[in-house]
Amino acid sequence: MSARSRAARRDTGGESATAGAAAFLPARRSLAALRKAAQDCRGCALHARATQAVFGEGRRGARIMLVGEQPGDDEDHEGRPFVGPAGRVLDAALRAAGIDRADCYVSNTVKHFKWQPRGKRRMHSKPNAAEQRACRPWLDAELEQIRPELLVCLGATAAQALLGRGVRVTVDHGRALPSALAKHAIATIHPSSVLRQPDADARERARRQLTDDLRAAAALLRG
Ligand code: SF4
Repeated sequence: MSARSRAARRDTGGESATAGAAAFLPARRSLAALRKAAQDCRGCALHARATQAVFGEGRRGARIMLVGEQPGDDEDHEGRPFVGPAGRVLDAALRAAGIDRADCYVSNTVKHFKWQPRGKRRMHSKPNAAEQRACRPWLDAELEQIRPELLVCLGATAAQALLGRGVRVTVDHGRALPSALAKHAIATIHPSSVLRQPDADARERARRQLTDDLRAAAALLRG
């Protein structure tokens, strides 16, 4: 941990629930420096029960930035975003929509995994508004580095955090939404919601919706 981060921890009382990430950002802004510094972040309490911070991943020159809610169990262990079951759903939908994940930068609104125990399993728990706010400086720094042409918000948490509280993914998905963060912005469902559907038909419908929304996103980029 850097001297700057240690000082920030002292200033914020060390483990304050939602002191915010701003004090932990490095002076030199590059994706590599940000990714390294995020491991020392104590801007909210979520770091305490997570394995590691899961920072965004992808090329600096990526035209597309995809943002989800938070890392899941697999991501928490691997330290990479969207590598678990939801990541595989996303990869398949991207392929079907003609988008190469290698051309995307993929991240989350919150960098540490929030979970609740259920038996031996660690179940996803939605980060609250204060935790989302606390973590926002990391996402803003990523947006600053990537400057995406197309911003794709995966799920309601990311859509409302980045595109406004009034956005309803159920209604607004798959169409261009106004944003100061990118030339084009669009919202769609979170890939994990495909997996939560009650039966195969519902899963197929959700999968199709995700793919169609990503196709619409790709069309925006083509102009
Ligand atoms: S969730 Fe975000 S603000 Fe909270 S400790 Fe992790 S990186 Fe910092």
